[in-house]
Amino acid sequence: MKWKCTVCGYIHDGDSAPDICPKCGAPKEKFEKIAPDVEQIIERSRKTNQLHMDLAHMLTKIIAISEEGIVDNLDPNCVSIFQKAKKSAYELRQMSKAEIVAHINKQKWG
Ligand SMILES: [Zn+2]
Repeated sequence: MKWKCTVCGYIHDGDSAPDICPKCGAPKEKFEKIAPDVEQIIERSRKTNQLHMDLAHMLTKIIAISEEGIVDNLDPNCVSIFQKAKKSAYELRQMSKAEIVAHINKQKWG
C-alpha cells in the first residue's frame, strides 16, 4: 500500500500511514491512501524515472566534458565534435527532464 501526504506530496510505502510525515512533519491524518490503479502506475514508473535521472546525470557529464574539449581547442575537427556532443547531450537531457515532468503530472511518480 502507498500513502500520500496531502500537505507536501511525500509518498510512503507501508501497511499504514506514518505517524509523522518525514518530509514536512504533517500528522498521520494528513495522509490519504493512494488508489490501487494509481499505485500500479507509480510502481511501474519508478524504474523508468530512475533511469531518466541516471541518464540526465550522465548527459550533464557529457556536457561538461564537451565544454572542456571546446576550451581545450586542439583543432577545428575536435572542437566540432565537442560542440555536436554538447548540443546533443543538452537536447537529450532536456527531453529526459520533460518526460519526468510529464510523469509527475500524470501521477507516474513516487
Ligand atoms: Zn508531508
